[in-house]
Amino acid sequence: MEELIRELRKLPGIGSEGARRIIFYLMGKGVEEVDRLTGLIRSLVADYKICSQCGNISRVDPCEICSNPLREKDKLCIVEDVEALMNIEQSGFYDGLYHVMTPHRQIFSTGEPDEEQLEYLTRHIDALKPSEIIIGTSPNVTGQLMYFAVMKAVTASKHRPDKITRFAYGLPAGIHVEHADKTSLHAAIDFRTPVEFYENKK
Ligand SMILES: [Zn+2]
Repeated sequence: MEELIRELRKLPGIGSEGARRIIFYLMGKGVEEVDRLTGLIRSLVADYKICSQCGNISRVDPCEICSNPLREKDKLCIVEDVEALMNIEQSGFYDGLYHVMTPHRQIFSTGEPDEEQLEYLTRHIDALKPSEIIIGTSPNVTGQLMYFAVMKAVTASKHRPDKITRFAYGLPAGIHVEHADKTSLHAAIDFRTPVEFYENKK
């Protein structure tokens, strides 16, 4: 068991306690469940593809999002990596298409998009011709560098969207202003949004 704990601890986010809990859980479930689980992991690792249109990780190419006729083809959201895409998908608040800048980031730990990836984005924009481009990069130093790289590729495309938007950032929901950290407060002031006069409408 000690050897298995050591192996499981190599996985991201798993400590000794988590490893022990996983082992006891699987012992309780039996061999069939272990076989099913390892089969799923094996087939994902062996069969995964990178979507040739958006860079999402999928078992089919194009991915389920690009090939879904119900998705809004007019909106293109540019994200840093597949984890960001998955998180937005789980929120359920976005129905457009994506472009993943660094599909291999989690797998091969390469963070920055190279020239080829930027040209790939330009080609995707020209092929899709979205009316809105949404830049969903993170509000940190890496995300800011990615934002500039993305804008370079967007500017290089022949297609001109009606609007280019960027994820809002500033104060997190539910926080009191007096407790906001300096960076968030700075962003909230810089990226303040206009409001309209309140008028009683009948
Ligand atoms: Zn796709």
